[in-house]
Amino acid sequence: MMATIDLQIPTDTDPIDRAETLLREIWGHDELRTLQREAVQSVLDGRDTLLVLPTGGGKSVCYQLPPLVRERPAIVLSPLVSLMKDQVDSLRASGVPAAALHGLLSEEEKRQVLREFVHGRIPVLYLAPERLALGSLVSILSAAEPCLIAIDEAHCISQWGHDFRPDYRRLASLRAQLPGVPMLACTATATPRVREDIVQQLQLDNPVRVVGSVDRPNLIFRVRPRTDAVAQVLEVLERHPNEASIIYVQTRAESERIAKKLVDRGVKASCYHAGLPAAKRTKVHEAFQADRLPVVVATVAFGMGIDRSDVRCVIHANMPKSLEHYQQEAGRAGRDGLAAECVLLHAASDAARWQGLIERSADEAVAEGGDRETVNRNTRAQLDLLAETSAWCRGLGCRHRAVVEYFGHDWHGADEREGGCGACDACLGEIERLDDATTVARKILSCVARLGTLGQQFGAGHIADIMVGGNTERIRSMRHDQLSTFGLLRELTKSQVTDLIGQLVATGCLGRIGGDRPVLTLVADGVTVLRGDREIELAKPARGKVPRDQRAPKGRDATDWSGIDRPLFEGLRELRRGMAAARKVPAYVVANDAVLRDLARFRPSTLEAMSSIRGIGRKKLVEQGPELLAFLDAWCPENGLARDMVD
Ligand code: ZN
Repeated sequence: MMATIDLQIPTDTDPIDRAETLLREIWGHDELRTLQREAVQSVLDGRDTLLVLPTGGGKSVCYQLPPLVRERPAIVLSPLVSLMKDQVDSLRASGVPAAALHGLLSEEEKRQVLREFVHGRIPVLYLAPERLALGSLVSILSAAEPCLIAIDEAHCISQWGHDFRPDYRRLASLRAQLPGVPMLACTATATPRVREDIVQQLQLDNPVRVVGSVDRPNLIFRVRPRTDAVAQVLEVLERHPNEASIIYVQTRAESERIAKKLVDRGVKASCYHAGLPAAKRTKVHEAFQADRLPVVVATVAFGMGIDRSDVRCVIHANMPKSLEHYQQEAGRAGRDGLAAECVLLHAASDAARWQGLIERSADEAVAEGGDRETVNRNTRAQLDLLAETSAWCRGLGCRHRAVVEYFGHDWHGADEREGGCGACDACLGEIERLDDATTVARKILSCVARLGTLGQQFGAGHIADIMVGGNTERIRSMRHDQLSTFGLLRELTKSQVTDLIGQLVATGCLGRIGGDRPVLTLVADGVTVLRGDREIELAKPARGKVPRDQRAPKGRDATDWSGIDRPLFEGLRELRRGMAAARKVPAYVVANDAVLRDLARFRPSTLEAMSSIRGIGRKKLVEQGPELLAFLDAWCPENGLARDMVD
């Protein structure tokens, strides 16, 4: 079987060594990273395995290698067709005849895939979970004696997670239907609670747990209060001229509005959302993948199928509803391991809006006959995730550390006092503290407390009006200009006070209750601050510019351009665009940025020298090597560049 991969590895070779030989020959990587090796070893040993590796951590080879070693197929369950297609394209480009079975294929195409599969010609078969509803399929799969069932995005099975999919519950019965076949559950982000739920739901048998660090040190996190989304986005994009950037917005209208404004300012950008005609969506997707379009302004509909590894910037114009979502979306930046920037713009209205949506969808679920208790549990879980996200945005400590601890790991990086991670706004000293924060907080808290004693509750907007001494109809009619706290923060603007109220909510001093029009209440932590038992810190509610000399992360080699000829690198990108177009594949399938950088750094003069570059496997060397070499042969002498540089 698997006639296309004939590497003539002696069969008595240790399986893990065979795996590494395959990795070298097919993927062009020298060796498995530690955690990949643990996971592959566990699968080869026939053990159930839980693998938590961040985006870009190389999860997919952990289920792509074992079938090639064992010469028995692997079945990979994956939630999204676009994701499957990209992986199948990548595998095929490297000479592995993978295939996917999903609802977009014609009946004849499906039959064709299954025929190839039962004849042992498809080592890696991707499936959508809903396919499993067809009982006959499971017996066909079983007859092929798979060596592995891999479940990608395994957190979708958990109600505690951020992306629960009822279809995933079908997977629970796979264990019984395919007894004895080891399972590999993969996810990029899972809190300890979600991890346990995955193990339980899938009935994993004493699984080996391989849990990687969630930290992505090459990402620079910056979180800013949203003041003027377009201006703020432009300011960030200025740092990434012509580099791949994604801007996430919440609504279709926003995506169109912001894209248009960017285009008006001369940025090559396009909008993307589920409401666009399919042809237009495909066009944008392909242009971005092929490196012809640098900036996409999108709803979260964009991105699941994006496998471009050189995204240098991801901006969120609104706060996402969970840190898991944020990790996943921001995690699309810098998958090549090189430095990338993630900026999140937020306002108090983001959390309020999410809360309204979560509560409304709970009401709908109950109206549609959902079990009240299950729905309530799910709603509480979603609101908890939301509160954690607000707290992260409002936090004044290291962002990387906060993410790591949220996902249940210990932080091993430098302490904030020692300069911290060097890659977040807090550690880079970009967050300005508010002077006398405790006094300011007390003024706001006492206003909320005073209204409470009158039996009155209001939202952030009205409280801010009172604090700045506003002259609104509501203040006049409620005689709130008679309150002792009226005008106590006259020196601030209403939006600044609203921002401070948001910080007080996120730090647990104020509670926000009610759905669409939430009101504020004083809660326990707020009482201690009000009594003077506790000091607090707040960020200055103003927008700060990023000093130019603080843009690069300290102490990291992620931005290391030493020895790289920039014009040559740009020339290679251009060449890659052409090669990708000719092969009708996305640019990253031809070569990722790291490979291009190495080519522009070492400038190999022979195919043999080129083969030592990480990421160029045997097939790529044969198929693309000559073209790349010819390019270098023409470029280097013309520009006076020496060849075969050594590290
Ligand atoms: Zn930090």
